[in-house]
Amino acid sequence: MARSADERAALADAKARLDGLQLYPRPVALRRSVRIVTAPWLFRLPWFRRFDGYTMWDLILLRAPLREVSGDLVCHELCHVWQMQHRPVAMPLSYLHRGYAANPYEREARRAVAETAPGGAASAPGGG
Ligand SMILES: [Zn+2]
Repeated sequence: MARSADERAALADAKARLDGLQLYPRPVALRRSVRIVTAPWLFRLPWFRRFDGYTMWDLILLRAPLREVSGDLVCHELCHVWQMQHRPVAMPLSYLHRGYAANPYEREARRAVAETAPGGAASAPGGG
């Protein structure tokens, strides 16, 4: 299934923000497999309950419909896509041995959102 117009716009906005940063050698690639899917059932599971969004490689999963989600959350999750495009093994494994809260990739994604916030205001989306 092709991306919806909302999905294309959300991904393009988030990519434009991340393209202003130089965290990795190549910009995040919006290849065909990068998708945003709303999956409320996932966020009822114990590990996922604390998140509003969660990214597995190129797949961004959201608790709420995309229209109800902030650009900051999409930016945070697309930053994880970017990380996984450059660190496909080390990044996901880091959550096993470093945990979530102090995870360096998590901090990097939060910083990416804060540094590219349109109003300059830092917010704290509940992104996984
Ligand atoms: Zn995160």
